[in-house]
Amino acid sequence: MAQRRPPVIGITCQHEAGDHGDRWYVNAPYIRAVAAAGGVPVLIPPAWDPELLGAALERVDGLVLTGGVDVDPARYGQEPHPQLGRVDPEWDDLDVTVARLALARDVPVLGICRGMQVLNVAAGGTLYQDIPSQVPGALAHQQSAPREEASHGVAVQDGSRLHGVLAAAHLAVNSFHHQAVLAVAPGFQATAHAPDGIIEGIEGVAHRFALGVQWHPEHLTGRDPAHFRLFAALVAAAGQPVRALPP
Ligand code: MN
Repeated sequence: MAQRRPPVIGITCQHEAGDHGDRWYVNAPYIRAVAAAGGVPVLIPPAWDPELLGAALERVDGLVLTGGVDVDPARYGQEPHPQLGRVDPEWDDLDVTVARLALARDVPVLGICRGMQVLNVAAGGTLYQDIPSQVPGALAHQQSAPREEASHGVAVQDGSRLHGVLAAAHLAVNSFHHQAVLAVAPGFQATAHAPDGIIEGIEGVAHRFALGVQWHPEHLTGRDPAHFRLFAALVAAAGQPVRALPP
């Protein structure tokens, strides 16, 4: 019997343009987590052409949308808040285009931190631009502790896809975001929350696998196996045929 080929998991590149040049790269923990879950990690840089990006998406079985800077509020029809952080239109173009393609083609997708926000914006939702000023009484969502440490709790909705994947109703997560989901996109629902009400997980209702988490599970895989299960579930979904053939 032929061995099944391991699923190819595209990981969207992160962007840095400054004194050190213009580079598209990916932080290693994303790559390690995908590979540890049995996926073939491939990096998705911009192609500056939606058709070329579409061709890239045809060659991947699943997708990770990575973390990064703020999403430009123009993407969801808002004016910039005074506390808006750095935005990067070229990076938004890459991420929003890839997210829309993945959702339209039902490619399994895991959005992480900015990646979850991108998923929500790409599907028509909105964001808080600055949690501290827009959500009175919010917890500190930008922890000073190392990335491998958890800083706040998350409650996962019973019966949700996320609950099934994590196999946990409560978990401790790290937190490195000053933005958060405000209006959940049509076709998505919020399925994990911090104790202050901030949305920490979303999922597409009709998609095969479209999950977003506001924390960084790729840094917590050594702390709690629940975080690794996000990557394992993505790779498992990516390994499934898009349509089951009739018997
Ligand atoms: Mn948080």
